[in-house]
Amino acid sequence: MLYKRSSMLFNEAKKYIPGGVNSPVRAFKSVGGSPIFASKALGAYVYDEDGNKYIDYISSWGPMILGHAHPKVIKAISETAKNGTSFGMPTILETDLAKLSLSMVPGMEKIRFVNSGTEACMSAIRLARGFTNKEKIIKFSGCYHGHSDSFLIEAGSGVVTFGTPNSPGVTKGTAKDTLIAPYNNLNYVKELFQKNKDEVAAIIIEPVAGNMGCVIPQNGFIEGLRKLCDQNNCLLIFDEVMTGFRLAKGGAQEVLGVNADIVTYGKVIGGGLPVGAFSSRNEIMNKLSPEGSVYQAGTLSGNPLAMSAGLATLSELKLNDNIYQSLDEKSSYLEKGMYEVLGKTSLDFKINRLGSMISLHFCSEDVIDFKTSQKGNNEKFKKYFHGMLKEGVYLPPSAFESYFLNDALTYDDVDFTLDALIKVSKTL
Ligand SMILES: *Cc1c(COP(=O)(O)O)cnc(C)c1O
Repeated sequence: MLYKRSSMLFNEAKKYIPGGVNSPVRAFKSVGGSPIFASKALGAYVYDEDGNKYIDYISSWGPMILGHAHPKVIKAISETAKNGTSFGMPTILETDLAKLSLSMVPGMEKIRFVNSGTEACMSAIRLARGFTNKEKIIKFSGCYHGHSDSFLIEAGSGVVTFGTPNSPGVTKGTAKDTLIAPYNNLNYVKELFQKNKDEVAAIIIEPVAGNMGCVIPQNGFIEGLRKLCDQNNCLLIFDEVMTGFRLAKGGAQEVLGVNADIVTYGKVIGGGLPVGAFSSRNEIMNKLSPEGSVYQAGTLSGNPLAMSAGLATLSELKLNDNIYQSLDEKSSYLEKGMYEVLGKTSLDFKINRLGSMISLHFCSEDVIDFKTSQKGNNEKFKKYFHGMLKEGVYLPPSAFESYFLNDALTYDDVDFTLDALIKVSKTL
């Protein structure tokens, strides 16, 4: 495959945009090489500026669960656009998407739309703090909740329970209110509660993690967090930006059978346009301005184009909820195929999967948290990524990301992928 035009475009972009991209992972830093520039995407395929075609396992990092350029979504966006693209006034579309999304997920009574997952999570913790009158939050290493300051924190040294900034520009003052625990470690969270009695407003978690590869909660972990929150008068926030409307109609809440107090959404809920959202029961949501005093706003929040893309996507998912079963079966077929191909080699590997989220790690230890996910062999991953790319399979350009399968993907596409893996695995 030739990437000539892409690398030229990347060099041009770097002159005007920091690192040439508007979101870091797109720059291929962790796999090396030059990113491919997309020209279009249809169904399960994405095409680059050099005319190469790829089977797409990223689905725009999740949103395109129905496949790219789904006719119903495109129709909804274009018809809405004919009547103007933004009003700064309420529209019926917002109520429609609110009603529809609340009807699909358990336990939520009101929802507020924003423009990204970052905004949703940032607002969710403000709301939790405002509701509980407490300031600290607990998050888990390896979980990503967008790039607002409170989340760009890593575990502090052994003696302190609060975190330290992991990006310049985040203040120590902010960091001291974020407590970090290892994923799947309930006892650690118990200790944090003991050391910070009556100070924790909320626990925020990816109920199935997708930002350290796919990491699945062990039996009893999420249930344990629910119990700890109840005992400590603290809110449980599920960040379902990735899992919401992807693992099931009702997201991780439905799949795990545990209800959160606040749930954040993004990605699928916007059907490929910029939408985030957070939801909760009336008691909590009514604390939000203009009803209550916790401030939150947005010029383009509830934008009509974005709402119509979300409506078309969620309507399709609600109407055909066998999509989830079929995505699960397709992903399971891929997983089994990967085991078969890689099992014949001498490579150390682990595969984690839940529904249409799946990740491959080149390591011998089970991947259950950030520490174990960091043990993957990145040199092997790089070769694997670039090998698959050359074969026409577009995988996430980082070992810390999950694949997202979409409904347009066929079994032939998966077979093609597995054939590519046979070739590539011999080079690893
Ligand atoms: C993508 C993601 C976010 C951030 O969403 P943006 O729309 O990129 O701001 C937050 N949480 C999780 C779990 C995500 O996967």
